[in-house]
Amino acid sequence: MAIMHQLPPLPYAYDALEPYLDAATMTVHHDRHHQAYIDKLNTALEKYPDWATHPVENLLKNLDQVPEAIRLAVRNHGGGHANHSLFWSILAPAGEVLAPVGNIKEALDDSFGGFESFKSKLTEAALGQFGSGWAWLTRGDSGLAVLATANQDSPWSLGVTPLLGIDVWEHAYYLKYQNRRPEYVENFFKVINWEEVNRRFLS
Ligand code: MN
Repeated sequence: MAIMHQLPPLPYAYDALEPYLDAATMTVHHDRHHQAYIDKLNTALEKYPDWATHPVENLLKNLDQVPEAIRLAVRNHGGGHANHSLFWSILAPAGEVLAPVGNIKEALDDSFGGFESFKSKLTEAALGQFGSGWAWLTRGDSGLAVLATANQDSPWSLGVTPLLGIDVWEHAYYLKYQNRRPEYVENFFKVINWEEVNRRFLS
């Protein structure tokens, strides 16, 4: 039996992102929602051992080659696994790294005309995503871009590399913010781990 996909531990305590992302939401979001994507991905891959050993990013980059019988499951649950794994990693307790640092700062300045302009674009993408989905900062052949995807669709499937993602599914914010997605998105910017975003940008 191949090693199946596993839930990565949170790199900080469940309450580390308080008051912006509350411990109750983080617990349910990580332990139950993310775990459920992994369980369903593993179930889909059970009968396809050749595919079960691939990193999830490779599956998402090559969805058209994934067996048709499990393609939608990989897209949804593999996407959910990859998106959430990135999400936990690019967050950090408020005040640690408040603003972009290093090369990503220069790149954001060059691509968007400054951090505030980038922040506006990403916020617009997050608020403009109708229903469930994500807003992303990505890197591709044509440079940095802001885009949104529906459901758990991954930027990897679009041929670009995700550097930063905001989860705008209601499960990411409803317990604390209810329908106030704008407030959640504004506060999300206070807990971004820019060192990790920079590391992803450079890798
Ligand atoms: Mn989520």
